[in-house]
Amino acid sequence: MNAIENALRHLPSVDQLLRRNSLQALIAEAGREAVRDRLREVIAELRDEIADSNGEAARTADAGKITAEIELRLHSRFVRLQQSQTQRVINATGVVLHTNLGRAPLSRNALEAINQVAGNYCNLEYDLVTGKRGKRGTALQDMLAQLLGCEAAAVVNNCAAAVLITLNTLAEGGEVIVSRGELIEIGGSFRIPDVIAKSGARICEVGTTNRTRLSDYESAINEKTRVILRTHPSNYRILGFTEKPSLEDLTQLARTRNLPLFEDLGSGCLIDLEPLGIRGEPTVAYSIKAGCSLVAFSGDKLLGGPQAGIILGEAELIKRIKSNPLMRALRVDKLTHAALGATIASYMSGRAMKEIPALVALSATRETITRRARAFVRRAKNLTHALQLSLIDGFSVTGGGSAPEAQLPTTLISIKSERMKASEIEDRLRKNSPPVIARIVDDQLLLDLRTVSAAEEKELIDAIGRLRETEEGKRVHKKGRK
Ligand SMILES: *Cc1c(COP(=O)(O)O)cnc(C)c1O
Repeated sequence: MNAIENALRHLPSVDQLLRRNSLQALIAEAGREAVRDRLREVIAELRDEIADSNGEAARTADAGKITAEIELRLHSRFVRLQQSQTQRVINATGVVLHTNLGRAPLSRNALEAINQVAGNYCNLEYDLVTGKRGKRGTALQDMLAQLLGCEAAAVVNNCAAAVLITLNTLAEGGEVIVSRGELIEIGGSFRIPDVIAKSGARICEVGTTNRTRLSDYESAINEKTRVILRTHPSNYRILGFTEKPSLEDLTQLARTRNLPLFEDLGSGCLIDLEPLGIRGEPTVAYSIKAGCSLVAFSGDKLLGGPQAGIILGEAELIKRIKSNPLMRALRVDKLTHAALGATIASYMSGRAMKEIPALVALSATRETITRRARAFVRRAKNLTHALQLSLIDGFSVTGGGSAPEAQLPTTLISIKSERMKASEIEDRLRKNSPPVIARIVDDQLLLDLRTVSAAEEKELIDAIGRLRETEEGKRVHKKGRK
């Protein structure tokens, strides 16, 4: 018998493995089918490895060792599967609207509203006054219109959907005029030229990358023009020799030529955030006052609510958008209605800066963060002397493609270790439960408490305590080898 055959003989069967006591807990949790499928994969993987190594891979292994190896690989597959489930993480990056981390955390009121409608029935499309079928989201749309001082509102799945349905409604088969300086890509493959193409309209580019004049728009208008599009270059800036017409001049032009002007604002800032040092984010109210026919923005960027796309503007145009068959495909569910309604209510009551977590995080001063960071380091140092914790000055950012150059002064907690590289600490924290997401600069791990809630601080300290265990484990290991 050759080495390969001999090695393969040691591989247990799937059925044998499924009967093992050590696998019963996993089977109960993940289901027999799933465990069986993963076992087959692991065994096939080992079979290939043994064959590739001419049996060498299993030369020293007996059946017991091979079984242990199979179980190890099986478990690590399920851990990976579990890690990839959507779950809570602690955001210690200081990026307030981190798109990869789910953007805005919701307010207590929004959570309470979701809780109410999610586990019960609700009047989503039912009119409690007449006892008849009602329209979805009427109250929310009225609130939005009232808050922003415009005629009407519509809510869709996200801002990308808002831009798509608006352009499709207004310009399908016709032309959309847009400045070459505003042919933006937001990331996640949202590109203005592609969205225009998908809306069924043709793009009519005017001006140059850095300079576009009112006269460029003017001379591009023809009988096929359906809409003038203005986009907010959220995540980049063109500096230096630049020019673009003011929003007022552009709306004036659109009005005299009887065309709608549609602005894609992206972030949708409802409160002027300049006092916080966040400059260059135009407010929604400003765009409406300047005379835009329609504006669109996200629900989960600076607004601080759930993922949604909000379209505001003239009643006649909003009515056309709502009767577009695409609306049914892009509409939002009861959870989003509840959360967005509660978030908008915070703005209406004037308590947004206190109640909405993203705004609370953005408005935290360096002094407040320093005080928290100092207390944090003191507590963490009591846990561990093996790690070096110190405070350094730094900046947090808004994120979510909003106000790219706004730097919010903060105090960072730096963690260094003699035995672990920053990347190793980062890896450990990421694999903590709950996972902690941090940043690395100049081979030191940095934590920014701006985006960490008071309730999460305790868990963050525990995570650092667990770093100490690995750290000390390494030291013991080293001594033992001497
Ligand atoms: C972020 C952004 C979008 C996309 O918004 P989503 O809500 O993520 O779909 C569109 N346009 C601009 C200008 C943006 O900044």
